[in-house]
Amino acid sequence: MGLTAKSTGIKAVDMGFCIKKLTHNDSVIALAGNPNVGKSTVFNALTGLKQHTGNWPGKTVTNAQGICSHNGENIVMVDIPGTYSLMAHSQEEEVARDFICFGNPDGVVVVCDATCLERNLNLVLQTIEITKNVVVCVNLMDEAKKKDITINLKALSQRLGVPAVGTSAASGKGLKQLMDSVLKMLKNGNENAIVPHYTVPVEEALSVLVPILSEKCAKKNVNPRWAALRLLESDEKLILNLNEHIGYDLLADKDVSDAIDAATKILQDNGISKEKLKDIIVSCIVLTAEDICNDALVYENNRYDSFDRKIDRILTNRITGIPVMILLLGFIFWLTVSGANVPSGILSGIFKMIEEKLLDFCLYLNVPEIIYEPLIFGIYHVLTWVIAVMLPPMAIFFPLFTLLEDLGYLPRVAFNLDKQFKKCCACGKQALTMCMGFGCNAAGIVGCRIIDSPRERLIAMLTNSFVPCNGRFPTLISIISMFFVFSVASPFQSVIGAGILTLIVLLGIFSTFAVSKILSKTILKGQPSSFTLELPPYRKPRIGRIIIRSVFDRTMFVLGRAAAVAAPAGLIIWIFANVHLGDMTLLKICSDFLDPFAQTVGMDGTILFAFILGFPANEIVIPIIIMSYMSSGTLTEFESLAELKSLLVANGWTWITAVNVMLFSLMHWPCSTTMLTIKKETGSIKWTLLAFLIPTILGFTVCFLFTMLTRVL
Ligand code: GDP
Repeated sequence: MGLTAKSTGIKAVDMGFCIKKLTHNDSVIALAGNPNVGKSTVFNALTGLKQHTGNWPGKTVTNAQGICSHNGENIVMVDIPGTYSLMAHSQEEEVARDFICFGNPDGVVVVCDATCLERNLNLVLQTIEITKNVVVCVNLMDEAKKKDITINLKALSQRLGVPAVGTSAASGKGLKQLMDSVLKMLKNGNENAIVPHYTVPVEEALSVLVPILSEKCAKKNVNPRWAALRLLESDEKLILNLNEHIGYDLLADKDVSDAIDAATKILQDNGISKEKLKDIIVSCIVLTAEDICNDALVYENNRYDSFDRKIDRILTNRITGIPVMILLLGFIFWLTVSGANVPSGILSGIFKMIEEKLLDFCLYLNVPEIIYEPLIFGIYHVLTWVIAVMLPPMAIFFPLFTLLEDLGYLPRVAFNLDKQFKKCCACGKQALTMCMGFGCNAAGIVGCRIIDSPRERLIAMLTNSFVPCNGRFPTLISIISMFFVFSVASPFQSVIGAGILTLIVLLGIFSTFAVSKILSKTILKGQPSSFTLELPPYRKPRIGRIIIRSVFDRTMFVLGRAAAVAAPAGLIIWIFANVHLGDMTLLKICSDFLDPFAQTVGMDGTILFAFILGFPANEIVIPIIIMSYMSSGTLTEFESLAELKSLLVANGWTWITAVNVMLFSLMHWPCSTTMLTIKKETGSIKWTLLAFLIPTILGFTVCFLFTMLTRVL
């Protein structure tokens, strides 16, 4: 985790608990840029850290910092959120702007996309307005070359008055030169940095206010021209931060307020309202960027763009977009289901062999039963189940998902679903947070920060758990395999399995729409906001990196977390299953207590108790169910899913139980990590409680209705 909206404020930096320097003299460089320009790639390459990268805007929702050592100097690099502007319309923009303005960085590297430099230059110009200490990193030069775009870096640098360095961060090209320029800028500054100019009346107004502010802001390193513009715009939140930074209330200062009045009068006399002033500022910046690009850019043709457009005509088409998306999802599930069974079986076999050896070894050493039983039948059993069942599907699903991410498909998903979300008065970007939820709902919740409107952000958070995270996939896949696939002839097994899994995920998506709509018509009333989502160019995926990233960043991380929970959970469940109160085990007492209620929703007390014990991590629900049944002595071990099915059937499972367990797995309380994340993100017990109640009530209702329906039929 890196900085947050709060921790990047003045306090964080002034108090010194945020920026970790190796020595007091280390310089701090902020890494800014539009989303999806390769900022995290540059950051990772410079610091050797592993910030998550991916081909879609808005992915960097938290920040990171790391040390870059270059020519014997240590520089603290702070990766701030990707933003299109510093006008602070969203939380990200505010964090980025506040860090540049008040975080006292010694300089800013603005990473730009060489294939669409003009749009990126808006951010460069806005940053230069705040601080002259800027280096422009023109990244993705390799892509620009492919698109026959030539960038005259020298001309660019001359026009901006700050260094401009070309890089291809993915292959590490140009990064050394970038750091050379950073060190040079830190040493010499950029005296000739461009000063964006506005219309005559605005400049006249500035000439009244800037000299006064120069005195007041001098000590605190705030650019008076930039501060004057914000005061004239009456940007209240920023003015509050500015006051806090300089240590007193600027508006209460008579000199300043008189100057503001005089400057405002000049603007009003020229028919410029506050709103119009904002428009003038934006359009002057855009025109300056355009003018600079005319000098620095040469397009030879745009054949690559037209290729992207052709693909988009199918993938984002109104008629074909959604069916293609569902087919793609189904195809990924098919590959996952069909590919996971064999390695799962092999892993189970290996673990079983090891278990036998461990048991022999314990018997040989005369280890008392009370020690080896909880260790082997408790911890070892659950841990190896989690690994054998979770690892293979994850090792297939995550690389495929990462491949789509790298190709640039995920923003297209948001684009396709935008209309549906609008109908529910929610935001299309919610689709991106749902994609993150496939990996981990907690990550999906943090990802909701990319949604600007607080109302829509809350809707996205409250509904994120309807997307099954990878902890629930193994439960779904194993139940589908046992109860719905084995009876079908083999070539169709995995197709049917993938089809059912796709239907379950579609049901989750449908529930998201339905609940979003209900929320936006009741407690979270409001109009849907519009948003700009850039559709990035399709990029050739880099298979090696995809595998490394999906294996280490995702599979191993998730597996590690699951294993960390599974081991103690294994021990606890063993204790529950073996400690007797009277002639009943604790487990039996709890299960019996829950049983009458569980039966009304088509499950049994053991299953419901397993879901409750699975609160720390969903992946341990099935192992708990197995261990609970095994402790009642029906079957002591299982080698395959078929044998496991006999265990479940012997304990009263039917296809109806299987469907209910899948439905409940899709719709019940979020895991503890997700709940904690919701509490942290909303800062409210009320919303956290609601995030618990909504899926839980829906889950019980759906299971109850399904059970009633099957009983009636
Ligand atoms: P961020 O959102 O700005 O942090 O962007 P990322 O670092 O996540 O990069 C976005 C995408 O661009 C990822 O798929 C990267 O692998 C890719 N990428 C980054 N730098 C380069 C580059 O120099 N060349 C190419 N071809 N791809 C790059």
